[in-house]
Amino acid sequence: KILTASICAAFLAVKWTTPGFDAESLRGARVLVTGASMGIGEQMAYHYARFGAQIVITARREKVLQQVAEKCLSLGAQKALYIAADMASESDPDKVVDFTLEKLGGLDYLVLNHIGSTPFKMWEGDIAHTKWLMKVNFFSYIQMAWKALDSLEQSKGSLVIVSSLLGKMTSPFVAPYTSTKSALNGFFGALYHELSIKKSNVSMSICTLGLIDTESAMEKVRGIVNAPAYPATDAALNIIITGATRQPELYYPWFTWVVSISKDWFPSVTNYIIQNSYNHIP
Ligand code: NDP
Repeated sequence: KILTASICAAFLAVKWTTPGFDAESLRGARVLVTGASMGIGEQMAYHYARFGAQIVITARREKVLQQVAEKCLSLGAQKALYIAADMASESDPDKVVDFTLEKLGGLDYLVLNHIGSTPFKMWEGDIAHTKWLMKVNFFSYIQMAWKALDSLEQSKGSLVIVSSLLGKMTSPFVAPYTSTKSALNGFFGALYHELSIKKSNVSMSICTLGLIDTESAMEKVRGIVNAPAYPATDAALNIIITGATRQPELYYPWFTWVVSISKDWFPSVTNYIIQNSYNHIP
């Protein structure tokens, strides 16, 4: 009980000291959101639109992007442009950043959110898939971040990385995915320190999400995992606020923070829970 109370008190202390969010700061802000044709990325595009931002969205499916961009305009976006791109390609990550810089004349927020599709099952040696997923979920992130860094430096902008609790702790049936998210946490954790040491103008936020009710996530875990799924629109808003207030980290929902730290304190309890929380083996 004492331990739980201490954890909650520490968490609330951190929350209370975070700076306030000024929605007006996003009016006219130049934003690039990846993976915005569906799920959390789509919801982020709509929130930025309501705040009156200038948005570029990207994913592979052009027709769907067009519909999302139209809705963004109807919600109040100052600009809503889209560019189809495959993040497994060598050149598309750079192409998307170049397009954004040219069309918006600079960048205030780079929100890296896309993920490639990956099965929810035991790993059966599919190395080609794991390499491909690393390209999509990891290498394209560092390529885009590097390409956009000068522009973010000039605008005192923000780099927002959407990661996962599965980048902080391991879990079965998602070996390729959890590898890509751990790689993101490692790389951008190091970059965070380097930007601080250089006294860079760029803020960086790494967002740790738990289970969110997007179509693609629900499709995989339905009937297998009993954990509650949290709303994508709320997750999206929390990510945007974290970037806008230049906080280094987001844990959403809040208990992902408790899980992240307690797994190292009680490894055998955590392992037992992880290995016994599935209705059947997928
Ligand atoms: P979705 O699967 O709903 O959306 C993925 C997006 O990425 C889509 O817009 C998709 O569009 C795009 N995409 C897929 N493949 C490629 C590709 N090769 N090149 C470019 N774009 C691509 O994801 P979620 O909204 O569920 O997740 C968003 C973020 O949140 C991810 O970083 C994820 O790891 C993180 N997260 C999600 C959780 C959840 O439970 N949902 C939990 C923890 C973290 P298109 O098909 O048109 O290319």
